Amino acid sequence: LVKLKIDNVYKEYQGRNGKVVALNGVSLDIAENEFICVVGPSGCGKSTLLNIIAGLLEPTSGAVYLDGKQIEGTGVERGVVFQQYALFPWRTVIKNVMFGLEMKKVPKDKAEEIARKYIKAVGLEGFEHSYPKELSGGMKQRVAIARAYAANPEVLLLDEPFGALDAQTRVQLQTELLNTWEQEKKTCFFITHDVDEAIILAQRVIIMSARPGRIKRIVDIDIPYPRT
Ligand code: ADP
Ligand code: ADP
Repeated sequence: LVKLKIDNVYKEYQGRNGKVVALNGVSLDIAENEFICVVGPSGCGKSTLLNIIAGLLEPTSGAVYLDGKQIEGTGVERGVVFQQYALFPWRTVIKNVMFGLEMKKVPKDKAEEIARKYIKAVGLEGFEHSYPKELSGGMKQRVAIARAYAANPEVLLLDEPFGALDAQTRVQLQTELLNTWEQEKKTCFFITHDVDEAIILAQRVIIMSARPGRIKRIVDIDIPYPRT
């Protein structure tokens, strides 16, 4: 079942020295509940592709379909986690995680119950009433992931969410993300330039080549990577 269809996406920017082709005809079918990692050198168009899927950027040509329907504009159905995902600084952890649920008008009691479940899943039980500034970088990314999951998006879009973290925290968060994904399947589109990270997380690794942005190879990771 194709959840997300990227159909011949082409994107050019107007740069200072003329136009820059960021994506030059990218097509990819992503199955429901599949975990995809996109790797490739800086500038190969990874973020551009993610932003187009998120509806934050319009492709110059081509289209993206979610459940067969063309994506237009942003929507709560796509949860996005960026490398430095700005949490609302004036909101506590639980209020941050409840944000997407509030937008969907989920009753407060229910929203709180769901938020607590995901806060626990990312190992932040006890920090519900802390503010982002009281948390470490790894903890903030955990909050961002809990918030994305809590909103129950159709697709989770992650742009180097662990890129700014130290190696130990990074491995911990990879494991937590995988555990969450295994318990509660979700279609994940994860950008990284860490090949190890891609192999650990993904079912398929999409390798992009720089200039102009194209898919160079798709690697099936059919043997589960050993984890402790
Ligand atoms: P990646 O995420 O793989 O590093 P990007 O999607 O950020 O790649 O960028 C792809 C290409 O598009 C790069 O050559 C980059 O310089 C260019 N680019 C990205 N954003 C803009 C922009 N707003 N204006 C002009 N060029 C851009
Ligand atoms: P403003 O409209 O003044 O930018 P917002 O309340 O929309 O203020 O956003 C405040 C901060 O929260 C921004 O840094 C923004 O990136 C982030 N933000 C905006 N929308 C969301 C969202 N849906 N989920 C999480 N963070 C968001």
